[in-house]
Amino acid sequence: MEALDIASLRISLVVVVLAAFVLFYVVTYRVTRAAYAALWSLALLQIVLGTTLMLGVGTSAQALVLPPANGLLLGGAIALYAGVRTVDGLAVSRALVVPPVLVALVTAADDPGTKAWAGDLVYLPLLGLATGATALHLWTTTGPRLGLRRALAGAIAVESAFYLVRTVAFFTMGPQDARYDALFGPVPATLVNLAVLMGGVLGMTALSTEQQVRELRSQATRDGLTQLLNRAEFDRRATVAIERMRRGGMRGTLVIADLDHFKTVNDTWGHEVGDRVLCAFAEACRSVVRASDLVARVGGEEFVLLLPGSSPQDAERVVRELRALLCAVPMPDPDLQVTASYGVVSTTDHRGLAAVVAAADAALYRAKRAGRDRLGHADSADRTPGELVELG
Ligand code: GH3
Ligand code: MG
Ligand code: MG
Repeated sequence: MEALDIASLRISLVVVVLAAFVLFYVVTYRVTRAAYAALWSLALLQIVLGTTLMLGVGTSAQALVLPPANGLLLGGAIALYAGVRTVDGLAVSRALVVPPVLVALVTAADDPGTKAWAGDLVYLPLLGLATGATALHLWTTTGPRLGLRRALAGAIAVESAFYLVRTVAFFTMGPQDARYDALFGPVPATLVNLAVLMGGVLGMTALSTEQQVRELRSQATRDGLTQLLNRAEFDRRATVAIERMRRGGMRGTLVIADLDHFKTVNDTWGHEVGDRVLCAFAEACRSVVRASDLVARVGGEEFVLLLPGSSPQDAERVVRELRALLCAVPMPDPDLQVTASYGVVSTTDHRGLAAVVAAADAALYRAKRAGRDRLGHADSADRTPGELVELG
């Protein structure tokens, strides 16, 4: 068998990665406009450009192409790392642009006209570190598609190990040793890159599809302003929960809260202050419930809580906590504090979600009519009128 020639290998890598870049850019980035997709597109583009420049190694242009090629290839590995952090919602440091620039400068200063391995003493370990950090991130973070993450982590770890071992060999054998060239030279390096990049592109596509599904699911089930459940999702989950409670003979309560004179809040201080109050109340709701409870924003300034296992007295305590938190929300005029009215109903007194909600609504309405900042207990099954509690 004739030896693999490096130029053909590099051209194959360019063609394959270019195709992957076009696909990824058109299919993923143009559709999602997500930061991680931009970073991954940038990574593939840098690898295409860096590998293309590498074709000039061994020609009279070597001194000119080697510094930017090393910088771009390291930049590609770092952009891949930044992409996997971003897809998991983690921050990325701007300082990550420094290593590629540094590698280009070191290569330029290391006699790139005569040495094809100019700059390798910093380029190789940094490449090993960048790919190692990517593999470590994918391995240690728990997210959806755990198996895929592990497989990707393994493939990228192979690449990282390759560059770290190559770094050691660079110092021990030296780049001019024939064994170094056979084991770690451009030919095996390009083959490793080709294999890992192909696996990587498939994995990235799967992870980004997963991310899009998560985003769409959240948009379909959550309220955009407060991130609480929306009405449709609350209805779905509460119907199941109430039926389960009924079958298990478990009590529970449902609380409806409606902010008082909220139109006036908007009219006096503007919509933005109104939005801030809504978010603060949502946060208060989240903080007073347990993991097994449901909280939703079901209308403009109307919220609902389902508290399995709790009695109306428990719910009254929850409401008092909510009131205290709402009172603590800083307002432009400290003398005018926002309040809410509440309707509380025991889920065992009525059959089905619609009837439970109707009873809570009626209790809320009584609390409003009686002057607001009150809690109305729903009439019980035998039509004994529910108690009205002044919260102030
Ligand atoms: P009541 O005490 O009887 O409940 O009076 P209210 O003014 O709170 O009730 P009404 O139903 O008349 O008005 C609700 C107001 O809630 C009207 C609307 O401007 C406001 N609202 C609804 N959705 C939003 C929102 O997303 N952001 C803001 N800032 N205000 C909203
Ligand atoms: Mg209101
Ligand atoms: Mg309302």
